[in-house]
Amino acid sequence: MKAQCILCETIDELDDKKFKTKQLRNKPIRMYLCPECETRIAQKTVERINSGKFEFHKPKTKNFIEKPANL
Ligand SMILES: [Zn+2]
Repeated sequence: MKAQCILCETIDELDDKKFKTKQLRNKPIRMYLCPECETRIAQKTVERINSGKFEFHKPKTKNFIEKPANL
């Protein structure tokens, strides 16, 4: 399956056996990022969070780490 990166518009051939590919096919709205853009954004986000200037605009409703349901 082919997917186009929403940022750099590179078209990648995805491995049909991978879980991410299946997710993308089942929900076409889900945006695809090529590995390059994904790493770039991940790095920048982490840098920004660590800089202390990062603000969450969504109201905080629950914690990031939730307790497992069966405990
Ligand atoms: Zn890209």
